[in-house]
Amino acid sequence: MDYRTKSFWLEGAYADYTPNPALEGDRRYDFAIAGGGFTGMSAAYFLKKHEPGMKIAILESQVIGFGASGRNDGFNMTLLGENILELARLAGEDNARAAHAWAKEAVDTVHGLVQEHGIDCDYEHNGFLLIGLSKPHIAKVRKETDMHIRLGTQAEYLDAEGVRALLPSTPAVAGMREPHCGILNPAKYCRGMKRVLTDMGVEIFENTRVTRLEQGRDIVLHTPGGRASAPAGMAAANAYSASLGLFRRHVFPLFTYIVLTEPLTDRQLDAIGWAGRWGIETARRFVHYFRLTADNRISIGGGSALYYFNYNTTRDRNEKVFAQVEQALVDLFPPLKGIRFTHRWGGPVACTFDFFPIAGVMGEHRNLYYSTGYTGHGVSLANASGKIIRDLYFNQDTHRTRLFFINRRPFGFPAEPLLYPAVRSYAGYLRFRDTLDGMRGGA
Ligand SMILES: Cc1cc2nc3c(=O)[nH]c(=O)nc-3n(C[C@H](O)[C@H](O)[C@H](O)COP(=O)(O)OP(=O)(O)OC[C@H]3O[C@@H](n4cnc5c(N)ncnc54)[C@H](O)[C@@H]3O)c2cc1C
Repeated sequence: MDYRTKSFWLEGAYADYTPNPALEGDRRYDFAIAGGGFTGMSAAYFLKKHEPGMKIAILESQVIGFGASGRNDGFNMTLLGENILELARLAGEDNARAAHAWAKEAVDTVHGLVQEHGIDCDYEHNGFLLIGLSKPHIAKVRKETDMHIRLGTQAEYLDAEGVRALLPSTPAVAGMREPHCGILNPAKYCRGMKRVLTDMGVEIFENTRVTRLEQGRDIVLHTPGGRASAPAGMAAANAYSASLGLFRRHVFPLFTYIVLTEPLTDRQLDAIGWAGRWGIETARRFVHYFRLTADNRISIGGGSALYYFNYNTTRDRNEKVFAQVEQALVDLFPPLKGIRFTHRWGGPVACTFDFFPIAGVMGEHRNLYYSTGYTGHGVSLANASGKIIRDLYFNQDTHRTRLFFINRRPFGFPAEPLLYPAVRSYAGYLRFRDTLDGMRGGA
């Protein structure tokens, strides 16, 4: 498996990468983690930081950051759930306020880790811009802005003139600026965190697939070359959780795809006028998300999200969606008509039916920890989830352990073959709502 082909970020940051050796033989730990993305690394980091003597292992089936963590668009943002209105509607305003505060803490956590450990990941804390593209979007953006303010963020509403002053070439008709957002290179971040963890003494095994996760007094992670056992462990495979035999009725993998342009010339940059370099999303149900890279390319993704039958996590490419996203970029930035696209990739995010994460501890012996289901918003939430795991593991009652999604019983969905039509139907409904809002595209 050539992990470097899985995203532009992995291609660059892992060009000279040598994976750690696989686990061999029987090893004993205090805490054993299956999955080496943001979630697994975050748990290892915060546990070890709290209790430096802990013996911790991460077992990763490919390389650190192989999954969504090395492929995402790098928005370190406050979004939790579908959007802030749905957060307040479904979770209730008090829960939403606490969850929103947690999302802000999560954004600061990532920013803080980058600064504290000097992680070279092209981090830019520029803020976030939501843009509305049609008349129905105006009310939606206005309501989202109001809810942000109500839940404690200094968001600012922009009318058509205000948003065009910031992005003169787009057809945006409304906008919301929100300061708590940064953008980063996710694969560089993964490599940086791997270094930090290694320096702390966490043992990381790559090319080490957990073939069976055994629950009991000990958590035993079985691999082709041996076993890692510990009195407590963690499932951190996120969208790949079905490979561990877990969460099949609560989490499903949903693919989102990104395309990347060649570096923009100064003339092209002037023409689109994206001076603030904010991470941007559209107000569609199937959002498009787009940003500038350190070398001034534009990456743009979204516009659809696809579930493939039976928890398939291998559909990293979809030519139809790539073509749609390329078109979306030119629709948003007409001066870029004819620009060349150099990279196309995709990856699975873990989705729950209400789009909120699930995290907690489970099992007869209450020793299997988990955090998953960030539904496309894991740069902040997954990278800070280790704080939640640490609090739970050390039995600390904190504002984090009281968040509404901790140890909740989420809505359980039907198993296959019913799951596939259920997800596809819901996606069809969201697409229809986008069409009503005057949007086009979406596979
Ligand atoms: C294209 C794309 C764009 C995105 N953009 C954004 C964004 O801009 N902002 C944002 O907040 N979020 C974004 N996300 C979501 C974000 O990337 C994820 O929420 C986050 O990376 C989840 O981290 P994780 O560690 O839980 O999962 P992953 O990174 O998927 O890690 C799980 C790991 O487990 C490993 N694994 C799987 N099975 C096994 C096994 N049996 N044994 C051992 N290891 C196993 C996998 O190889 C993988 O490395 C995006 C995701 C994608 C795919």
